[in-house]
Amino acid sequence: MKEVKYNCFICGKPIKSDNFSVEHIILNGIGGKLRSKNLICKQCNNELGSNSDVALSESLSFYTDMLQVKKDRDNDHNQVMIDENGHEIIVEDAGNKLKLRRPYFNKEVLGGEKRYHIVVKNKEELRKYLAGQVRAGEITQEQMDEVMSKAKMTKQRPRLNIQTCVLEEAFPSIIKSAVDYYIECFHRTEDIKHLIPYLKGEKDCKEVLNLIVFDQLPYTDNPNEITHMIHLEGTAKTGVLYALMEYYSIYTYVVFLKENYSGPYINVTYCYDVINNVEVKRDFSLSVDRKWIADYKEYFEKKQNTLFAATEKRANRIMGIWQKKEREKLLGDIVNKAFAKHPDGCLITPEIYNQLVNDIIVGLEEYFVG
Ligand SMILES: [Zn+2]
Repeated sequence: MKEVKYNCFICGKPIKSDNFSVEHIILNGIGGKLRSKNLICKQCNNELGSNSDVALSESLSFYTDMLQVKKDRDNDHNQVMIDENGHEIIVEDAGNKLKLRRPYFNKEVLGGEKRYHIVVKNKEELRKYLAGQVRAGEITQEQMDEVMSKAKMTKQRPRLNIQTCVLEEAFPSIIKSAVDYYIECFHRTEDIKHLIPYLKGEKDCKEVLNLIVFDQLPYTDNPNEITHMIHLEGTAKTGVLYALMEYYSIYTYVVFLKENYSGPYINVTYCYDVINNVEVKRDFSLSVDRKWIADYKEYFEKKQNTLFAATEKRANRIMGIWQKKEREKLLGDIVNKAFAKHPDGCLITPEIYNQLVNDIIVGLEEYFVG
């Protein structure tokens, strides 16, 4: 019989080898690596359900996919996004392939003239549609042939509409993550008992959770990192124990864990860089209480433009890292393809060298011209 060290923070039953569950303190769906078997029993975990976790993963999936964030188990679905023209685009291969989900046909008649707007994946889709129009007597066979002979495939990356807000359904998951980390570090379940109704969706999470946009971060961060962070700070001086939660270096929330805190001063930070897949050290202190939140809200009202610019800057940083990754992968693919034509370890003669250079240039042209 294994020694029982901890009790489930929800029901209080001892966690044993037959009822433990592995809890991702930061969701696996967004690349969280921190896990624990000592937090919650299997039954309570099942009863909590996963709706809120799914809502958080979905809200952040744009960043997860674009940044090709590594997950423990890849039960990836293909994400569908909408481009700026309203077409559904399937995002595959962690954002490297964008594919039109279905063909789009639109016909309008302007002063006796028929105008077709057609967006298709390939010539076959176009041919099928036009053949139908010929059968229906809408266009002639000659017109169809002309269109088919002139149609050219172009490579283009559609501009996608980005979902930029975290759904309210995700809030219990954010609070749970903060609670999980507090219990994992300190095992003081009595401090957070009052938060359980929020985790179960029985109370309005906005009572204890606040979205914060920093124009000046309370810590220094490396511009090549994109991080998930949980910072716990508590002091009897303010009587507040709170968590500062950060997702993809862009969404930040303050969660009030306890507001009549009289325990020892605590200050711990867990920070994980999802680009370089390493834990990073972050050390800072920020005194947060209800007044701080009220002051922030007042500041927010006055300085919306500044704060918007700060968020935009952080979003641009993510897009910059994504573009760099994508360029590297593209170049790697083209170079690999060019080299694959020649046997491994073959002597590079001037002819082969010219061929390689040519293949690489053609590969690049295909991508940039179109
Ligand atoms: Zn339990």
